[in-house]
Amino acid sequence: MYLETKKGSYARKTKMLLQKTQDIAFTKQPYIEDVGPRKIKAIKFSMFSDSEIAKAAEVQVYKGVYYDPQSHPIEGGLLDPRMGPPNKSGKCATCAGGFDDCPGHYGYLVFALPVYNIGYLSTILDILKCICKSCSRVILDEKLAKDYLKKLRSPRMEPLKKVELVKTIVKKCTSMVGSKAVRCSRCGYVNGTVKKAVGRIGIIHDRSKCNDNSLEEFRSAILHTRESKSTFNVATYVLNPVKVLSLFKRMTDVDCELLNLFDRPEKLIVTKIAVPPTTIRPSVLVDGSQSNENDITERLKRIIQDNARLHHELVETNASFQCLV
Ligand SMILES: [Zn+2]
Ligand SMILES: [Zn+2]
Repeated sequence: MYLETKKGSYARKTKMLLQKTQDIAFTKQPYIEDVGPRKIKAIKFSMFSDSEIAKAAEVQVYKGVYYDPQSHPIEGGLLDPRMGPPNKSGKCATCAGGFDDCPGHYGYLVFALPVYNIGYLSTILDILKCICKSCSRVILDEKLAKDYLKKLRSPRMEPLKKVELVKTIVKKCTSMVGSKAVRCSRCGYVNGTVKKAVGRIGIIHDRSKCNDNSLEEFRSAILHTRESKSTFNVATYVLNPVKVLSLFKRMTDVDCELLNLFDRPEKLIVTKIAVPPTTIRPSVLVDGSQSNENDITERLKRIIQDNARLHHELVETNASFQCLV
């Protein structure tokens, strides 16, 4: 009796499920829940981090070549079939789609050394003006920092007013180091002025006004070297992207909030870039052996070649201090 009941309920359930399945219209369109009109509260713009770029990609690209002698796209190359079919006759190695079906997949490229994101150089400069170049904390004294933070956290403060307030904070920090050397209250390091390098892309940390013992020690140490007779300035440092990246990584979330940064500042330094799918930069085979490449592919090839040369130099010279200046 019990078995029969169970059997009966199972059959009923299966019948209902079948009925339900028949009612559902299957489509290739993505599922979007219709919840009616919605009001957008806020939009935040940000950049992908290195790990996000690598996660979104299917393959690491590191070869500046396209096809092997048999005209097959090379793995790890700019036309790796995992990024989509390279031409009309090819097939995608990720989704097995053809040129018409495959939407394309991203790759990524790892830089031998980090570089500044040139579009955000002024933001990087402003952050560096405000933080200690040793411990990464904002150089304002704690009471002042708390007051500014309270104002920034106020829900009544409009976003544009917050931008103005951050400009005031940057000005305050700049004037602090401009008038006298500022010793960091947390680590004791003496900070100098941060400015853009003249004639090239770079950032300088000028500590010539700092009466710091370490400078005197450095001067006496190089007294008998060739550098001491040249225009070598011991008080001026180039803040290279390697150093800046390590400073930004150590910044606390509260300090980021104080400078009104919506995201982590290390995202402003580029160590990986996304390689776009081959579907947006198709390769055209001419006479079955020669190929005509898209401008984006050609530009990426130059980046890979320069990157490989730099990587080789760094490994060959076994450089202890690795930077691009
Ligand atoms: Zn595909
Ligand atoms: Zn410090």
